[in-house]
Amino acid sequence: MPELPEVETVARGLRDATVGLRITAVRWLDPRLVKGAIPAEEVAARLAGQVVRGCDRRGKFLVWRFRSGDGLLLHLGMSGRLTVGMEPEAPWLPHTHLVVALANGREVRLRDPRRFGRVDFVPAGTAPFPRLGPDALSRHFTARYLAQAFSKRHAPVKSLLLDQRVVAGVGNIYADEALYRAGIHPLTPGGTLPEAAVRRLHRALRAVLRQAIRHRGTTFLTFEDAFGQAGSYAARLSVYGRSGLPCRRCGTPVATRVVGGRTAHYCPACQPGWEPDDAKTRGGPRDAAL
Ligand SMILES: [Zn+2]
Repeated sequence: MPELPEVETVARGLRDATVGLRITAVRWLDPRLVKGAIPAEEVAARLAGQVVRGCDRRGKFLVWRFRSGDGLLLHLGMSGRLTVGMEPEAPWLPHTHLVVALANGREVRLRDPRRFGRVDFVPAGTAPFPRLGPDALSRHFTARYLAQAFSKRHAPVKSLLLDQRVVAGVGNIYADEALYRAGIHPLTPGGTLPEAAVRRLHRALRAVLRQAIRHRGTTFLTFEDAFGQAGSYAARLSVYGRSGLPCRRCGTPVATRVVGGRTAHYCPACQPGWEPDDAKTRGGPRDAAL
């Protein structure tokens, strides 16, 4: 699933390839991706003729901005791929749902095999993004903010990091990587983390996200950037996807546990302090749904 670094990589590609260009035609192949109030046919009509001003990102959402002030909200869901600079003659790959033709003769195409993605027209003057916490790389996301967001919360820190209302843009991969880097067990109730640990986690999160952007994201089955290229961060992952393999720091096999419905990967030696038996007696995992 694309997280902040992958979506940022796509946003940069979309901006570079389309800014200043006029949209000449829009074709829906699957209008079900439109989940807001404005229906797909109307979205197509209102997009035609727009001139691209840029592309903003918040968390895992993109807004393709136009000079009119209107925008197009995009969320890539689990498996969405946005490809720019396509020749119109290039065959449509399976699950191509939206094709936007530009004045330079190239196309932007959106594919989404699992259809968890979303495309919505955002008229000028309306708030473009759904209710989200601060973007993990914005100046509003500070260690002090994070400590406040965690205070009195009993849910495991891993679940809190995945909650887009707490911080926008973090998903399973980078939550696991940041917790490992900060030496924090994923089941630790957020509200029990000492201030120093929250500061460490805040620093670790921003560091892993920035590093992943430099490597154009992590490519598993479904992510490639807007130019169809794979990201290279996967080779640098410390725990995510490394279940049973030796910890890169201490050699202990990387363990997994289900936390709030998602699999957490961690090193039991480098991230001590909250093993399953404690959690059971102290109610940790049951609080995950709160
Ligand atoms: Zn270790």
